[in-house]
Amino acid sequence: MSERPERLSASDMSSLLAERGPIHVNVGAALILEGDPPTLDELLEHVESRLALVPRFRQRVQATPLQITNPVWADDPGFDLEWHVRHVALPRPGSTDQLREFLGALLAGRRPFLPDEAVCLECKRRGFPCVLVSGATTCLGPVTRAGCGAICPAFGRGCYGCFGPREQPNVSALVAQFERIGLSADEAGRRFAGFTNGAEPFRAAIPIEGAARSAAAASEGGDARN
Ligand code: SF4
Ligand code: SF4
Repeated sequence: MSERPERLSASDMSSLLAERGPIHVNVGAALILEGDPPTLDELLEHVESRLALVPRFRQRVQATPLQITNPVWADDPGFDLEWHVRHVALPRPGSTDQLREFLGALLAGRRPFLPDEAVCLECKRRGFPCVLVSGATTCLGPVTRAGCGAICPAFGRGCYGCFGPREQPNVSALVAQFERIGLSADEAGRRFAGFTNGAEPFRAAIPIEGAARSAAAASEGGDARN
């Protein structure tokens, strides 16, 4: 004799019926772990090995004929673990605010709002004095992706670009600005050799490595900008 299907409880039904239109009823948790993450394949293998312990995770809600009783839980014949376990990443280094925005967007089924704007805009919105305009220090804020809340300018220090370049940053204009406040061309370029100097728009501005790359590209018949 086949097992009777399990009907959704009154509590399940109240959550299900409450989730309509703009109202989302989600229960979840976010874990922040340290150390080297597993590969996606390793994670999938681990979850698969433990999935039998929580049969509900493989089930879906199935309406009953004529919908005259509560729906039932039923094994999902098309269950696809890779649809449920996915890999996504914030732009490095990422911030707690960005993580919150991402998780909220995920639960609401919308795209996360991670604006590609410069640290300068955060700096202006928060009313911090501009250390670059004052000529007191160099600042990579104009070419660096926002997200940190302009922490360094808040303390009177220039941004050193740890959030990485924003889309299509005008690095050469900033190098020229650094030269105008008294840096040599080499010194101005070296301001981009920080945490994210591996990022192409910044790497191209660094004098020594930039020259080496140009030479390598020329010997291969390529373009140093690619
Ligand atoms: S201090 Fe830096 S981040 Fe702030 S407005 Fe000036 S250049 Fe931009
Ligand atoms: S160095 Fe990093 S934390 Fe500091 S202002 Fe720039 S992006 Fe923000």
